[in-house]
Amino acid sequence: MKELEEKIRQYGTVLPGNVLKVDAFLNHQVDPVLMQHIGQAFAKLFKDAGVTKVWTVESSGIAPAVMTGLAMGVPVVFARKHKSLTLNSDMYTADVYSYTKKTTNRISISQKFVEPSDRVLLIDDFLANGQAVEGMLEIADQAGIEVVGAGIVIEKSFQPGAAELAAKGIRVEALAKVSSLADGKVSFESTEGDN
Ligand code: 5GP
Repeated sequence: MKELEEKIRQYGTVLPGNVLKVDAFLNHQVDPVLMQHIGQAFAKLFKDAGVTKVWTVESSGIAPAVMTGLAMGVPVVFARKHKSLTLNSDMYTADVYSYTKKTTNRISISQKFVEPSDRVLLIDDFLANGQAVEGMLEIADQAGIEVVGAGIVIEKSFQPGAAELAAKGIRVEALAKVSSLADGKVSFESTEGDN
């Protein structure tokens, strides 16, 4: 998605540890027009997948996930993150190691918002080692529901998450694929919708 790549080129900064900072339009300040286009792009990619719900993890996934839900006409559920080991019998839970924060969070989704017939599209802002998506897959597994795939705003293709998910047969669609952040420079792989 050219518009997204341009925003990354214009506003993205590279932090130590291969972290791309995009707080000018995605992770802190949010660009609603760009988010709307992101939602429409995911809706188009997954239009034939029979999606009944969009899932994400709070907080950075919420903006693109809500716009995707709006474009697809389905509800959006965001997994809550807890530092403590809170256990609640009404919740599905999974432990997720955070690449950027170097801590493990327990994520949870209330059983109240899961139906046996759900076909879920997972959305997240970044895909690095795949932990956040794996956590949502684990919850979907506990709930016994179908996951149609994962829509990722920015995939860091030089990290193992995308390949690991593909090896598990999970459909992953990324709107920008970063092939390298070496020497503080952002390089892209070509993605769908470039032409
Ligand atoms: P994963 O779980 O795939 O290892 O990492 C994805 C999660 O870590 C995302 O939800 C995102 O919040 C965070 N993350 C991973 N890499 C980056 C990055 O380069 N920049 C930012 N801002 N967040 C990242």
